[in-house]
Amino acid sequence: MSMRKNIVAGNWKMNKNLQEGIALAKELNEALKEKSVHCDVIIGTPFIHLASVVDVVDSNHIGVAAQNCADKAAGAYTGEVSAAMVASTGAKYVILGHSERRAYYHETPEILKEKVLLALANGLTPIFCIGEVLEERVSGKHFEVVKSQMEASLFDLPANDFGKIILAYEPVWAIGTGKTATAAQAQEMHAFIREALTGKYGAAVAGNASILYGGSCNAANAKELFSNPDVDGGLIGGASLSVDKFMPIIEAF
Ligand code: PEP
Repeated sequence: MSMRKNIVAGNWKMNKNLQEGIALAKELNEALKEKSVHCDVIIGTPFIHLASVVDVVDSNHIGVAAQNCADKAAGAYTGEVSAAMVASTGAKYVILGHSERRAYYHETPEILKEKVLLALANGLTPIFCIGEVLEERVSGKHFEVVKSQMEASLFDLPANDFGKIILAYEPVWAIGTGKTATAAQAQEMHAFIREALTGKYGAAVAGNASILYGGSCNAANAKELFSNPDVDGGLIGGASLSVDKFMPIIEAF
């Protein structure tokens, strides 16, 4: 019997000013107070929102995530925010390796490996994103790509540390495009990921790992996606920006 958690995590990306973000977090907190939901709920906010959002949400209902952290511990790195600083706000999670960070900010597997280590060292739970671009899927390389992303950034971790990580499979061609992977495509990849984890860390660690799906997940498709045995929830971009759109995804569990 696995102990893995179902999780719905929002990724606000670079949206909402501070006041708007606080208002959204409060509204979601109120909505969750009234319901008994069957998954953990996380919101990933910009850095500047973290401390304020942590302040207004009930940590029993909502976990707070940063969307990135530095690959260095501290020092002369102008403009960067360290994992220790994120942790000091009360945030418990950090999204790492999002495809937008990989593509637009040139985050390599090696850089991401450092970020994962620093996140873990500071008590943060990484939500680690993996996923192929369209050409890789079309040419049949998607399994290989996803496995090598895990190998390069995560598979040097001891099992105990790996066990703290939440994975998010996000096919890049489905992010923000309105094209969702079919439930069958999601299940196929999630089962492949879990098999790779079994090979590396054994059945217990693999069975306990939460593997989220991300990519144009919404109220209309969440239930079908989440009903797959290896899909343990979602990482939600666009649809996490309003309670009206986000709540039905949470309630899909
Ligand atoms: C994401 O960026 O993690 C994501 C899944 O975005 P969207 O839901 O907007 O496709």
